[in-house]
Amino acid sequence: MSRAVNPRQRNTLPGQIAVALYRISQAVGRILRERGKQAGLSPAQVESLLFLKHARPQARTIGGLAERLGVSYATSSGVADALENKRLVRRAPLPDDQRVVSLRLTSEGTTQADRLEDLLDEIESAIDSLPDKDQAALRRATQAIVYRLQQAGYVKVYEMCWNCQFFRKNAHPDDPAGRHHCAFMDAPLPEEDTCFECPDFQPADVVGN
Ligand code: SF4
Repeated sequence: MSRAVNPRQRNTLPGQIAVALYRISQAVGRILRERGKQAGLSPAQVESLLFLKHARPQARTIGGLAERLGVSYATSSGVADALENKRLVRRAPLPDDQRVVSLRLTSEGTTQADRLEDLLDEIESAIDSLPDKDQAALRRATQAIVYRLQQAGYVKVYEMCWNCQFFRKNAHPDDPAGRHHCAFMDAPLPEEDTCFECPDFQPADVVGN
């Protein structure tokens, strides 16, 4: 069944919700454009700075950025070049694998990324005005929708370790390389790295199925 985006044709409950989500995505796009304009950045550059601030260190590469932005390697490389020219990012070898070039925020880039952290405030505030039970239902429903879109390849979910099926808490408490363990990388995981967003995250409790 194929129908237009026109809300009058999407008059079922799922159709109306789909239109509402579409409008929210338009609002996010507009917020990104406006905040980027204020900072002299494109929306892709804004997303890249936030990605480089929060992603697991091993994911902060041109390829990782391409995956996050949903663009080609060449486009992602162009975004990195532009940020490098603005002195917000620099290329450097990954400390634990010198063959891999990572992208690091400069101190100016970190400051800029910090300023962009409030991007979702307006949307959070709108959600906060809903009754608690509606918020809980909305969280369950949106997680299930995101999961379905993730399975279809439309969105890449980056999350922290704590609810990941590969996370082994306190697997080796005396290891100086990290007291936790990531079964995906099969490597120790220091405490501080568990707070980064990871492209390999897989939920321990899968929602929506
Ligand atoms: S795969 Fe899971 S446990 Fe491993 S670093 Fe990513 S989020 Fe953490």
